Amino acid sequence: MTEFLSLDGRVAIITGGARGIGKAIAETLAQRGANIVVVDLRKELAEETANEIAAKTGREAIALEADVSNQESVKAMIKAALEKFGKVDILVNNAGITRDGLIMRMKESDWDMVLDINLKGAFNCAQAIVRPMMKQQYGRIINISSVSGVTGQAGQTNYSSSKAGLIGLTKALAKEVGSRNITVNAVAPGFIETVLTVDLPEEIKDFSIKMTPLGRFGVPQDIANAVAFLAADESSFITGVTLHVDGGMVM
Ligand code: NAD
Repeated sequence: MTEFLSLDGRVAIITGGARGIGKAIAETLAQRGANIVVVDLRKELAEETANEIAAKTGREAIALEADVSNQESVKAMIKAALEKFGKVDILVNNAGITRDGLIMRMKESDWDMVLDINLKGAFNCAQAIVRPMMKQQYGRIINISSVSGVTGQAGQTNYSSSKAGLIGLTKALAKEVGSRNITVNAVAPGFIETVLTVDLPEEIKDFSIKMTPLGRFGVPQDIANAVAFLAADESSFITGVTLHVDGGMVM
């Protein structure tokens, strides 16, 4: 009998996989049996992460440098992944940034950069992988959204828009590709302890804990566990959903 939530024989691409939540996702999918492509702007860190994952799990893990906001860069990355492993079963669109500021002070470049990486980046990667997934009649696309995309967050008009956009992208694409046995889901993390959140003002951190019924911040592993479920065969009748992994912050 196959092990529950086994990813044996699967190949997974994780964007922004060099550190933080993406790294935890990459490592967890490898532990479940998948071979891993760590995609990141940070080439050296991505290589370090891929080597660490391969050593820990005994799976194959490679690093590919790519900027998800750049279509040519994404196409080259997908081509290299397909050349290496012959297929891609799982795409996790995790790469994301913040450029916070009140709208009156937000530079156009901060709006563009956040939307280009967080939302268009997911579009670029999904568009480049959907044809091979359709051909193989199997695919799992998981988009990392955010609680900010569900409730909106002051000072984050750009980030909240990008993360809400990812939820729309998830639903629309789920409808487009469902007949080919490809599922598309989103995970909306609450407050997770990573370098993205470490420098937030203490009052925002205190407020976040107060708003979280489970009374703690999340850790990257909390998100990785949810992604592993959505990546596995056991979730094959789930598509178009946004799974909130936020300690109950949004309900
Ligand atoms: P992080 O900054 O630690 O990791 C993000 C990774 O993405 C980095 O390795 C970075 O180099 C990479 N990256 C950035 N731009 C890229 C690009 N253009 N192309 C390729 N790679 C790029 O952040 P994290 O906290 O691990 O966040 C991961 C994801 O989870 C993000 O999408 C973030 O919005 C989302 N998220 C995080 C939290 C949180 O509390 N940390 C909450 C909700 C959602």
